[in-house]
Amino acid sequence: MHEAMFYSKDNNYVYCLLCPHYCKLRHGQRGRCKVRINRDGRLYAENYEKVTSYHFDPIEKKPLYHFYPGSTIFSFGSFGCNFSCDFCQNWEIVENRNNYLTISKGDILSLSKASSSIGIAYTYNEPTVNYEFMYDTMRMVRDEDNLNVMVTNGFINREPLLKLLPYVDGINIDLKSYSENFYKQLCNGSLEPVKNTIRLSSLYTHVEVTTLVIDGKNSSDEEMEEISSFIAGINPDIPLHLSRYYPQYKMSDPATELDTLIRLRNIASKNLNHVYVGNVWGVFNDTICPNCKSTLIKRQLSTEVVGIEDGRCTNCGYHVYGRF
Ligand code: SF4
Repeated sequence: MHEAMFYSKDNNYVYCLLCPHYCKLRHGQRGRCKVRINRDGRLYAENYEKVTSYHFDPIEKKPLYHFYPGSTIFSFGSFGCNFSCDFCQNWEIVENRNNYLTISKGDILSLSKASSSIGIAYTYNEPTVNYEFMYDTMRMVRDEDNLNVMVTNGFINREPLLKLLPYVDGINIDLKSYSENFYKQLCNGSLEPVKNTIRLSSLYTHVEVTTLVIDGKNSSDEEMEEISSFIAGINPDIPLHLSRYYPQYKMSDPATELDTLIRLRNIASKNLNHVYVGNVWGVFNDTICPNCKSTLIKRQLSTEVVGIEDGRCTNCGYHVYGRF
């Protein structure tokens, strides 16, 4: 086990300072993420170097649509999460404590470099609860001129986030809802820290946001107006992905109707320049120039950049948000 960062001690307890749960742990007790444990007055990260899943994924699968479109990225995850969403789409990976590979940060980098991957994506489970391994790996990856991409629920405290962000090249943050009640009842989390993470990340790195839309839970016109207005207040060019929910884990509600996703995309598009629909085949998802409306990136069976040069629209010169 690897000693954790960001904790304090008081008598027989340790206090984890990594995420807004601020778990208070006596000897032998694990935090709500189930991967950080107090052993004899020290906090340890149990998932350091433990990898439960890895793949070479299209960058669009993260999803990142404005970050080296059409490229491949080496993606891995471990176990543990500081949320417990009833609708978790990755629960088999998150809960897989007993079936992992022990892989060093050097191995991760070698795997990435042995292919045409642009870098490493920290994903599948919640990567911030594997903070120490992610931080160590990110620093090594940066030294080797590879890219770091993080896919996160955004539920992390300011200090650890600030320490990490200088090494993050791109980040996709879930904004699961704009309701505290939703976060509390369905995720065992809270909304405000996630909004803070989106705001802070946008000052340091490339940001895209994902909302998994569940009919009847976070699919109202009013809520999409709130979500898109919040993002637009930071930067209306930040891409928003409206991802289709499918029944998973503890939630058996039927899959989200395609009509719902299209309706919400129309609402969000009044505030944001780039809104995409995910987890669905056959939907128009091209990137259009917000200024002259010419096609910048085509997405059909494959992804093709057709109208961007040096980060600008080839037709009108508009600066396109992202890295290309
Ligand atoms: S990271 Fe884990 S142990 Fe630390 S405060 Fe969050 S849930 Fe608790």
